[in-house]
Amino acid sequence: MRESSSTPERTSVSVSEARDIILAALVPLGSETVGLAEATGRVLAESVRATHPIPPLENSAMDGYALRAEDVARTPAELLVVDEIPAGRFPTLKLGPGEAARILTGAPLPEGADAVVMQEDTERQADRVTVFRGVAAGANLRAAGCDVQPGVEIAPPGTLLHPALVGMLAALGRTQIRVVVRPQVAILATGDELVEPDQLENDGRIVTSNSYGLQAALQEVGAVPVYLGIAPDEPEAIAASFQEALRCDAVISTGGVSVGDRDWIKQVLAELGGDMRLWRVRMKPGAPIAFVTLAGRPVFGLPGNPVSTLVTFEQFVRPALLAMMGRRERFRPVVQARLCEAYRKPPGRAHFVRVSLSWRDGERTATPAGDQSSAVLLSMVRADGLAFVPEDTTELPAGSLVAVQLIHSDDLREEPGL
Ligand code: AMP
Ligand code: MG
Repeated sequence: MRESSSTPERTSVSVSEARDIILAALVPLGSETVGLAEATGRVLAESVRATHPIPPLENSAMDGYALRAEDVARTPAELLVVDEIPAGRFPTLKLGPGEAARILTGAPLPEGADAVVMQEDTERQADRVTVFRGVAAGANLRAAGCDVQPGVEIAPPGTLLHPALVGMLAALGRTQIRVVVRPQVAILATGDELVEPDQLENDGRIVTSNSYGLQAALQEVGAVPVYLGIAPDEPEAIAASFQEALRCDAVISTGGVSVGDRDWIKQVLAELGGDMRLWRVRMKPGAPIAFVTLAGRPVFGLPGNPVSTLVTFEQFVRPALLAMMGRRERFRPVVQARLCEAYRKPPGRAHFVRVSLSWRDGERTATPAGDQSSAVLLSMVRADGLAFVPEDTTELPAGSLVAVQLIHSDDLREEPGL
C-alpha cells in the first residue's frame, strides 16, 4: 500500500511557506474613529493630506527686528521701532522706509518688511534700533507652507501613528482620526494539568504560563486579549470554548495539537467545520501548529510547550495580526551576528536558537542564552533574539555569521528577513 499523504512528513511545510499560507488567508479589519489623544500606537485607516499650509503665514525664524533689507544695505544703520509683534499677534502697522518692528520667533511678518535681522546683531535704545549687520531680503523668514503645502500626502493608510504624526495631525487642526480596529483575540489554554497562577499547589499540576505570556504578546502587538481560561482535555469542553471564542476576530489555543491521545484540537476544529490550512511546520521549537479558518476567523492552534508557544506566536501570529491591522511593516528586524560557539543539529527542521547579543571588537556576537529545550522558559526570558539555523544546515562552526531576529525591537520591516 502506498504511504498515506497525511503522514506528518508529507504534510509539513517550511517556516516561510507557513507564513505565506497564513498571511494569504487573512482579511483586514474594519476601521473606527478615535480622538487624537487615543491615537498613538494605532494604525491609520485613511490617507492623511494637508488641507492648508503649515505654517499658515510667513513668520519670523528669529527673535529680532522685522525691516526692509534695503534699509540695512549699509551698516551700522539706525531705524525707528514703530511696533512690537509677539508670536500670536497679527501685525496691523505697515512698515515704511527707515522703520523696523520688534518681532519674536513665530510672529507673522508685518506688511512692508521683507527680512528679519537677529537681535544679536542689533542694539536698542528707546524707540531706536541700530543694526550692525545687513541682511538679504528673505533672511530669517519661514515662508507660509515651508513645512507642508496644501494637498501633500502626509501619511498613507497602514502607517503607525507615532508622536510626530500625531503632532502633525494636530497642526492640521484634526481632533479625530480614522484608525484600524484593534483585533480582539481569544486565548484558550487546554490541558488537564493546568491551573491558574493563584491556584498553584504541589499536586503535579502546572501554571498555565502560556495564557499570560500570550496576553502580554497580544498587548505588545496592539491587539486586545480576551482570555477564555483553561479547557480540560475533553472534546466537548474544547468545542464549547472555541464556539465562545468566535465572538473575537482571531483565536489562539495552546496545547493539545500534537499526536498524543489527549490532543483534541485538530479533531475538534474539524468537527466544528474548520478549514485546516496547515499543520506541522519544519521548525524547532514548535513543530505542531494548526492553522485553521473557522467562521471566517483565523484560528492558531499553537503547541503547549511555553517556548514553542512564544516562538510560533512570534513567527506566525504576530505578523498575521499586524496584517489584519493594516500594517505594511509586519516583521521584526533581522541582523547578522557572529556565533560564539559551534551549533549542531540534524537536518530537516529550521532551528530558532535563543541567543543573547553583545558587541565584541566592533562586531555583534550571539551566544546561546541557555538550555534550548522548548520547555525551558528561562533562556527565552534572557534572549535578545532568535538565531535562525536553516532546515538543511547541520553545523554552524564557532565564528560563523547567523541571522538573528530581534524579538524585542519595534523597528518593524516589510520583509521577513528569514
Ligand atoms: P501539549 O502540547 O498539550 O502536549 O503540551 C506540551 C507541554 O506543554 C506539556 O508539558 C504541557 O504541560 C505544557 N503546557 C501545555 N499548555 C501549557 C500552558 N498553557 N502553559 C504552560 N505550559 C503548558
Ligand atoms: Mg496537553
